[in-house]
Order: sequence, then C-alpha cells, then structure tokens
Amino acid sequence: MLTKDRFYIGGRWVQPAGEGTLDVVSPYTEEVYARVPLATEEDMDRAVAAAREALDRGPWPQTPPAERAEKIRALSAGIQERAQEFADTITGEMGAPASWSLIGQVLSATMLLDSFVEMAPRFPFEESRGGLLGPNLVRRMPVGVAACIIPWNVPLFITAIKLGAAMAAGVPVILKPAPETPLDSYLLAEVAEKIGLPPGVLNIVPAGREVGEHLVRHPGVDKVAFTGSTAAGRKIGAICGEMLKRCTLELGGKSAALILDDADLGATLPSLMPNAIMNNGQACLAQTRILAPRSRYGEVVEAVVGAVEAMKVGDPMDPSVAVGPLAAARQRERVEGYLALGKKEGARVAIGGGRPKGLGRGWFVEPTVFADVDNRMRIAREEIFGPVLCVIPYEGDEEALRIANDSDYGLSGSVWTKDVARGVGLAKRVRTGTYGVNSFGTMDLKNPFGGFKSSGVGRECGPEGIEAFCEVQTIVLPADYTPAA
Ligand code: NAD
Repeated sequence: MLTKDRFYIGGRWVQPAGEGTLDVVSPYTEEVYARVPLATEEDMDRAVAAAREALDRGPWPQTPPAERAEKIRALSAGIQERAQEFADTITGEMGAPASWSLIGQVLSATMLLDSFVEMAPRFPFEESRGGLLGPNLVRRMPVGVAACIIPWNVPLFITAIKLGAAMAAGVPVILKPAPETPLDSYLLAEVAEKIGLPPGVLNIVPAGREVGEHLVRHPGVDKVAFTGSTAAGRKIGAICGEMLKRCTLELGGKSAALILDDADLGATLPSLMPNAIMNNGQACLAQTRILAPRSRYGEVVEAVVGAVEAMKVGDPMDPSVAVGPLAAARQRERVEGYLALGKKEGARVAIGGGRPKGLGRGWFVEPTVFADVDNRMRIAREEIFGPVLCVIPYEGDEEALRIANDSDYGLSGSVWTKDVARGVGLAKRVRTGTYGVNSFGTMDLKNPFGGFKSSGVGRECGPEGIEAFCEVQTIVLPADYTPAA
C-alpha cells in the first residue's frame, strides 16, 4: 500500500494536525491501494497562513514576471520528466484510459503551463495611461491568496489551468485536490520542491467538502478558483458573493455537436467521438448531445453506434482500451440512474445501456447511445458525466441552433460541415464559451475557456486567465510627473 503521511505546506512536508486518512480506491479493482492524510480545519489554517506569508512578506509577488515565468517553465519541465509516472498515477486513481492519459491528462497540463511561460513576461501588469487629471499608472496586482479547488476528472490539467495563471500573476495558492485523486498532487509537490518554488507559493492539502468549505470561507483567502459540479459551484459562488471574494467557477456542460446536412461523416466521427466520450465521458466539455439533420438521422445514428462499438472497454492500463471505469462507485450509480431514466423517458437505446459483459469488477458502464432523443428529456438537459450520448434530430439550421441553445449550460460545442464559413456563422450564434468548427479542440489552451449560463462565471486560460488572478489598481499621478518607462 502506498502511504503518505505529510502535507506540503510552506515549502516543507508537515505533519497533519489530525489523525484522519483518505483511502484511494482503484476504479478498476475496487480495492484500496493508497492512503493519504485527510486535512482538518487546522491544516487549512496553516496552509492559508503559509500562503499569506508568501503574499505579504515573501519575494514572490514582487518577483519580475519573467522570473516567475522561469519557475513555471521549470515546473512544466519537472512534470514532463516524470510524465509517464503522472499519467499512470492518474489512470490508477480515476480510471482514465492510459491510451489518453499521457496526452490528455499530463502533456496537455504542461502545454498549458508553457502557455503561461510565454504570456507572463508580456502581460500588461503595469501600464502608463493618460488620465483626466494627469498621467495614470494602471496596475494589475496579485489578487491576494487563492484557494484552488480541483475535481477528480482531470486533476493535473485543472490544477495547471489555475496554478499557471496564479504563478504568472504572483499569487500564492492553496490547492485542494478532490478526495478521489490526491496522489498526483503529491507528485506535483515533489516537483515544486525540486525546482525550489519559494515557500508558501504552492500549498497542497487534500480534503473533503466540509474542510474545503472552511477554506472557501477563510478570511485569509481572497479568491476562489473552483472547477466541479454546478451544485457545488452555486454554493461556493454564494459564499464568495456574501463575503465579496473574487471567484471563478468552471462548472458543468451539455455541449451540442451540430452535424450539418453536408457533413462528411467519415471525417467527422474520428474527430468528434474521442471528444464526445473523452475520459470515459467524464469531461465538462464533452460533446454529449449530437444534433443530426432529420434527412440523415439514421445514417448519423448508425455511424455513432459504429464508432462506439469500436471502442474497447476494459482495464484502463491496457493501451488498447478506449473506455475505462468511472471514477467512483457513486459516479456509476449516478450514470446508471440516467440510463434507467433515458429508457423511461422513451429514448431508444441504440447501443449499450447497461454494464459491460465479462468484466466482473470495476465501476464500468457500457458506452451508450440514446437515439430518438427529444431535447426536453432530462437525459438531454442534465450533465450525466459518463459515456452516454444523446442523438437528437433537427430540421434545418435554425432548429439546430435553437436546440443547441436550449440548455441551462453554455460551455462548449462544435459544428461539422464541408462549408467552414457556414459553420463559423452558426458558431457565432451559439451561446457557449468555446466552440469548435470541424475541430477536435473545443477549447484551446492558449485562449479563454469558461461558461455562459450555468456553466460558470469568469474565464480561465489565455491572458484572461491571468487577469482573473489580478486586482486592478489605478495610481493617479501629478500632472507634471512623467512616470518612469
Ligand atoms: P463536486 O463539484 O462536489 O466536487 C468537486 C471538488 O469540489 C472536490 O474537490 C470537492 O471536494 C470540492 N467541493 C465540493 N463542495 C465543496 C464546497 N462546498 N466547498 C469547498 N469545496 C467543495 O463534484 P463531485 O461530487 O465529485 O461530482 C458530482 C458531479 O459533479 C459529477 O457527477 C459531475 O456531473 C460533476 N462534475 C463536473 C466536473 C466538471 O468539470 N464540470 C468535474 C467533476 C464533477
């Protein structure tokens, strides 16, 4: 059994205040294979104190952005050196298929960090501007201490989105990994230690929901960057609103892939399907509503079913496997609830719909395609977070747009067509934060990502991602003063 008995706080490995532990359970074997300490409120208080020390007295906020960028570069390089270990760790914790983990979980995270290396030195942290009364300095200062709350589906990637931007902005971070996936954060702490990140710049404290909420409410925390369910996001957003803390919320999605009547299905499916069932269907931007023109409905359903049929389900460590188990027993229960609901609502199971045969253990569900889905059904409206697709028929582009926009969510989406200009025209009318035209990528690591409506508040990635870790300060100077260049 892999055991950890310390937290990484203030640049040191410190003893937990309490005795509680967290069992890490393999989604494939259903066995406990690792144990880490579970943080108490006292541990969180220590982590916040270390981050505040780094903010108020440490060198980090005053370190020139180009030097901070060098630390982000070193962090990225340190992760890359151990990339396979990170990938195997994440596959072990939450069941992402190894065929995808290295790129989807780890190298995408280092690419993100690298994007902040590029952006940090060029970001306008300080600008001289003309004002009404005289010259002004407009500054983007560190927002303060940030709590970064991470879900279990892409733990390192979501950490990189937040940590890269925070480091660029000079903001010390308390990272709270999800209880299901604490192990990769221990590897991250080892890398941070090795590259000599100044004490308190990154503090890592695995904890559950209640202690997480203590962190959110902590008066020493100025900003909360959260990714996870819309339900938890609403709660955290409410607390932040009440306390007037800055917050960004990256929440759920129910993104629509619009297959237009002229789409080449042979070209579309190989790009669309890995996204639709990405990470065993546990991705906020997964394209889980597939909108098919009525004139080609049967053909689209058949093609989607064919693509799903070709996906091997099994041991996530097996490189030929495309779909592994769900991350937690309760996640499988939830997804199975939706499988039953879809049947009850009158959708037709075109493939899947149960547990895969021949796999005696592991939290598997069969990749499932529901056909004849009406967008009013709950399976088309709620985030299932499993390998479950709804194929919805439409008549004409206007109806396709109406259905795509008829959602409480607004995170991502895509359009598939031979006519790119037509696709771009439709893309501009969809109310989601990111959108792909004939593209596997329904987010781009270098540009803003985030949701409309119940998919969240604020943006991460790109310069907007750094901006979200800044407070803006205007210094009004005397009229006859010339600010230093
Ligand atoms: P969750 O949103 O409850 O948990 C995500 C993270 O937030 C975890 O680290 C958790 O400990 C923490 N958290 C939860 N409530 C908190 C609070 N009040 N204060 C501070 N921290 C808090 O997600 P879950 O329960 O693990 O999964 C439930 C559902 O959420 C899933 O079935 C899925 O639909 C959705 N989900 C979405 C995403 C996404 O990226 N959109 C990610 C994970 C889960």
